[in-house]
Order: sequence, then structure tokens, then C-alpha cells
Amino acid sequence: MNVYDSERISQLLAARNYRLVEDPSDADLIFLNTCSVREKPEQKVYSLLGRVRALKKKNPKLIVGVGGCLAQQEGNGLLERFPYLDFVLGTKEFKQINRLLDDLEAFGRRGMATSLNGRVDPYVSLPSSACSGKATALVSIMQGCDNFCSFCIVPFVRGREVSRPSGTILEEIQTLAGHGVKEVTLLGQNVNSYGNRTPGELSFVELLEAVQGIHGIERIRFTTSHPQDLSPALIEAFGRLPKLCEHIHLPLQSGSNRILERMNRGYTREEYLEKVTWLRQTCPGISITTDMIVGFPGETEADFQSTLEIIAQIRFDDLFSFKYSDRPYTRATQFPDKVPQEVSRRRLMELQALQRRITCERNKLWEGKTVEILVEGRSKTNAEQSMGRTRTNHIVNFPGKSYPMGSLVRLRIAQPLAHSLRGDISS
Ligand code: SAM
Ligand code: SF4
Repeated sequence: MNVYDSERISQLLAARNYRLVEDPSDADLIFLNTCSVREKPEQKVYSLLGRVRALKKKNPKLIVGVGGCLAQQEGNGLLERFPYLDFVLGTKEFKQINRLLDDLEAFGRRGMATSLNGRVDPYVSLPSSACSGKATALVSIMQGCDNFCSFCIVPFVRGREVSRPSGTILEEIQTLAGHGVKEVTLLGQNVNSYGNRTPGELSFVELLEAVQGIHGIERIRFTTSHPQDLSPALIEAFGRLPKLCEHIHLPLQSGSNRILERMNRGYTREEYLEKVTWLRQTCPGISITTDMIVGFPGETEADFQSTLEIIAQIRFDDLFSFKYSDRPYTRATQFPDKVPQEVSRRRLMELQALQRRITCERNKLWEGKTVEILVEGRSKTNAEQSMGRTRTNHIVNFPGKSYPMGSLVRLRIAQPLAHSLRGDISS
């Protein structure tokens, strides 16, 4: 979500004659697009702001802005705490960056725009120069969330759930396809409920069908899917829409029904298991990834064992795991029975060790298989190699650097590694 937002901010700044530079000390303007979903990324922003202060001392004309969830959460508090900060831009007010910069340039006035109820369309279309040459693109289809999971700050910093009109989504994807983009990832906190609160709007499955019909788009992905709203129609779409890739990110958060209830997730482990079975029946070979939180308030050793059990039972292809942290405004912050840090740390390590083993074992199953890869560019670790993804979202590095971005190649998996696969193009 933040990558998508940063691309739009860059475009708005490009229209003011800014261009991206590699080295922060070459910059005339530094914009920190922040996340505050957990405590750790929030701390990172504060430490980055310390580094930016040193740059501003060297170059007093440097403009510094903070945007995104932390900006939304702290608002004026950031301007008060960091006197060298020039502007604060909330999650739904991107276009106000122009007004803030105009004010700063004309009057030297520091400013802030953090309304969550603005009437201005929060979406910024990309000019063709920004999409050409890319294999894949992110497309936001909705903003905010109404689920109020008890640990989560998102509804407070990104506002209530609003679906973007399907007409503009499809137009954007058509433009992307016209510039050679082959794969789109539809973005939202809870994509399954797309359109549900807007009378006359397409449902999420109907939106997928419409994207399926766009010439030039070869692959469709989406994230994130809430298990509660994973409908039979969406599961069935995996068996029916050829462009819909065989991967779903389905955050489970905990394997214990008691904790799921306290988290206000709206499903039980049995219901989750049933949906996984159904997905695997409808779409054999689908890869399933998830998010898990350890150390949620009140999580006992037995609850944690239930989480380990369900991980071992489902055998996710991969998972993101986090230590619970208190977030402002959320209900869980008020829960009294907090889990000590050292217990959460130990549980996290145990969970990650289990998943590492499962990921390795699952990756081994790919050895010798022939797969279709969408080339995304050069390998990050070896300039002589290219990198792409399977339809199941596995990263594959393979020899050769002449493959154009966006080409679809078939290759054999020669060597499964811990976090990626190595392909062999000769076979
Ligand atoms: N909308 C998605 C869903 O329904 O699961 C999740 C979006 S959230 C921005 C990304 C992940 O951050 C969550 O799935 C959760 O695992 C983690 N997360 C959110 N709040 C957290 C907290 N207070 N402490 C630790 N992890 C948290
Ligand atoms: Fe946060 Fe996701 Fe729950 Fe919404 S559904 S409150 S974004 S965890």
C-alpha cells in the first residue's frame, strides 16, 4: 500500500520538477512515507528523522515532509516535536502536497493536511512515463477498513472502508496494459468486501472478471483477503479465471479460537481450515501465505501451541510473523493481561523456526518442475541473472540477463533454496 502511495507522491512531485535521487544528501526535498501498524516501523521513522535533521543542518533549504499512517496518527504532534519538519501529509490528502509546498515556498509556512473525510478523489493517475517498461503494477481498489480488529490501527489512520469506482480502476488497468504491464495486484485492506457498501457497484468477483477481460494483462493478483469475507464465489473464481494467479495471502493471526475472538477476527480456526481445504480442492497447487501475531494479550502457552499446530497442519508456503505491539486507539491496548516481551520473543523464534522448515520442505517440491515465470528484472544478488515470479508468487532467479522485463518464460526449477528458487533456462 505504501509503495503504491509513494509512487503517486513521486508523480505529484515530478509535476513540480522534482526527480528521484539515490543519495539523500543530494535531495532538495525528503518525504518519509510512514507505516505505524506496529511499533517497530514507527521507531524506524523517528530514527530516520534524526538522520534527516543532520542533513538539514548541512542544507537549511532542504524541505522535509512526513506522510502516511504515522503522519495521520500524530498530526500536529510531529510538527511540534520536530521543529525542522516542514509538512505533514495524511493518508487521504496526497493532492494537498501542492498546497503545502506552495505555502512553504511563498510564505515559509509549515503546514499539515490530515483530514480523513476530504471530498477530493484521493487517487492520482500515473502518466505513461511512469508505467512503461514495467512488468507488474499495483492498483489500489479501496481505502480504509471497517473491521476494527482489536489490535489494528488501520481503521483509525486510513479511515472507513471506501471502494474506488470500478470504472476508474479498469481505466487505470487498461492504461497500464497499453504500456506493456502484464500483471496487476489489486490492493485493499479487505478486498473481498469490495463494492459491498456501494449500491450498484461491481462485487469483487465481478471486478476480477472485468480485469480478466483486459487485453494484455496476463496475470491478476490481489491482497489482502480477510478470511471472514472469503466468499464461495471468490474461491470458485480461482478454479475459473485463467489469469487469476494460484496464490492467496490469507492472514490467520492466531490458531486459538479464544484469541481470534479477542482479536475480533470474526472466524474460528475450523472455519479457516474449511476455507483452506476448499481452496485447495478448487485450485490444486494454490500457494497459501499468511500473517501471524504472537504474544497477543492473554495468549497462553496452550493458545500458542494451537498456533503452531495449525501452521504444521496447513503447511503454509510462507508466512509473515509479528510480535504483538500496543497501538494507539486500539481496543487491545486496554487489555490487562499483556504477555512479557521475552515470552513473545521466544514464541516468535519458535514459530519462525517451524515455518522455515516447512517453507524449505515445500520449496523442495518444486525441484525439476517446469514453471512459467514473469520476468521482473535483474536478480538482486547476481547481476548476471534475471529474476521473476511463478504464478504461485515464488521468486525465481535464473541465468541470463537479456530477458526483457515483462516477458513470460518457461523454465525448469533446478535448485530450491530457503527463500527463493533457482531456475535453469537450458531445459
Ligand atoms: N488487512 C489485513 C488483514 O485483515 O489481516 C492486514 C493488514 S495489517 C496492515 C498487516 C499485518 O500486520 C496484520 O495481518 C497483522 O499480522 C500485523 N499487525 C497489525 N497490527 C499489529 C499489532 N498491533 N501488533 C503486531 N502485529 C500487527
Ligand atoms: Fe486491520 Fe486488516 Fe483487521 Fe482491517 S481487517 S482492522 S486492516 S487487520
